[in-house]
Amino acid sequence: MPSLGPLPSQSTDHVADPAEGRPDADGAKYDAVVLGAGISGLVSASVLIKQGCSRVLVIDEYPHVGGNHIDRRIGDYTFDIGSFIFQDDSPLLAHLPEILPRYVPIEPSWGRLNPQGMVTQYPISIRDDLVRAGPLEWLRIMLSVLYARLFQRRRSNAREFARYWIGARLLYRSGLENYMRRFYGVPPERIDIRFAEKRMLWIKEHAMVRNLVRRLLAPAAPSGPRNTQLARPAEGFSYLYDVAVKRLESSGVTFLLGQQLHELRRNGDAFRLQTGDGPIGMGRVVSTIPLDRILRLCGKAPDARLSTVTLISLFFSFSGDRGFRDSILYNFSHEGAWKRLTVYSDFYGRAEGREYFTAEVNADHVLNSVEVAEQDFRRHVAANRIFNGDLKLEGSHVVSNAYPVYTDRADEFAAETIADLRAFGVESIGRQGGFDYQPTARVTTLKAEEALQQP
Ligand SMILES: Cc1cc2nc3c(=O)[nH]c(=O)nc-3n(C[C@H](O)[C@H](O)[C@H](O)COP(=O)(O)OP(=O)(O)OC[C@H]3O[C@@H](n4cnc5c(N)ncnc54)[C@H](O)[C@@H]3O)c2cc1C
Repeated sequence: MPSLGPLPSQSTDHVADPAEGRPDADGAKYDAVVLGAGISGLVSASVLIKQGCSRVLVIDEYPHVGGNHIDRRIGDYTFDIGSFIFQDDSPLLAHLPEILPRYVPIEPSWGRLNPQGMVTQYPISIRDDLVRAGPLEWLRIMLSVLYARLFQRRRSNAREFARYWIGARLLYRSGLENYMRRFYGVPPERIDIRFAEKRMLWIKEHAMVRNLVRRLLAPAAPSGPRNTQLARPAEGFSYLYDVAVKRLESSGVTFLLGQQLHELRRNGDAFRLQTGDGPIGMGRVVSTIPLDRILRLCGKAPDARLSTVTLISLFFSFSGDRGFRDSILYNFSHEGAWKRLTVYSDFYGRAEGREYFTAEVNADHVLNSVEVAEQDFRRHVAANRIFNGDLKLEGSHVVSNAYPVYTDRADEFAAETIADLRAFGVESIGRQGGFDYQPTARVTTLKAEEALQQP
């Protein structure tokens, strides 16, 4: 496998700047610098302070704290770029305890538009997807599961993984295959098996004969929610994190936001980061920014094998009969590029008498165009008889690097790149820096804690 190659400090022809390695002569000096002020960056700062660092800098090109936790206020509407739901038992709260009272407790429900045009249970409904299908369809589903278990035992990608467990017929009929394509941005046959096993374990658990029999014999008693679901305050993410930023500042953390990052160099045990405001010296670097960004900062070309999804968020307001009750709706149907929508007026109340929501769309599926995404969305919801009334696009947002795409052994290349960065002295972690599909802030927190404990 190709390697990252020598990084600037390792190059033999690099003529050292005499000021390098003596950060105090170079400008501000820190024990550690954290690149990126998302959840990984905030948790890293908290861990570094606990580890005894007295001066930590968190620096970000974004002008806000929270990374891709991005909200937009348009008039009285407050949209997020996607569905952000948190819980009151998250380990993140051990690092940022003061944010808990600022969250809004919510009671969301998750639904799914299935290929038969019905809004039903997410991720699958025994009643609507199986029982309603009728005896002929049951037979086809059973035969296809049997066939897959006997003759399609090879599981080398996400499609083969799902087909083995639920059969090709149910994979198609339930819309799961469409959803995987919409979510990951590529056909499921291109998604690496290791990622499928990690992210789609629930399919295996639901479909194992042993578990099916157990559920039939002793259906699980409905258990109340084990934790409280939370959304950011109506004032936005900045207001949520602001209180934690203040406390971190009082314990030795400095925040530099909206900063251009130009170059990162190493000389001996010290690093020098060139920013729009001048050089900064430090002893330790934790990077949570996208891998291609940190590679460029270190003077290396980004790795084309590591691709990420660009997410278009469409912000709509609506008046009329929306046709479903769930706050979060996934698109499992055979058509329509949008993958999920979140109705914020369920959490914060209507604004100007209207409901409002965000629809997330993978940019690759709409020619990277907000107009195409909007037209496609309108066409699809009309065909499925939802949002029957006045639907108005209030705005949109595009974010690159929304999540990594695991194709063609991308995780192996990412691991290799991260190991090379580590050898250089940069600890690259988080959803972006670790090229790691971390689904929740909870997972992100645990992974950041674990990564920074490593020697
Ligand atoms: C649409 C969406 C919905 C989610 N829903 C939930 C949820 O319901 N509950 C939950 O707990 N978690 C959710 N998550 C996941 C959760 O937000 C992440 O696990 C966590 O925020 C990752 O934090 P991070 O600091 O590692 O990375 P990020 O927040 O992704 O970013 C880290 C840093 O990378 C830099 N960066 C990122 N993107 C770019 C870019 N395009 N260009 C330049 N720099 C960039 C910025 O400096 C940023 O500060 C969701 C994520 C997304 C994208």
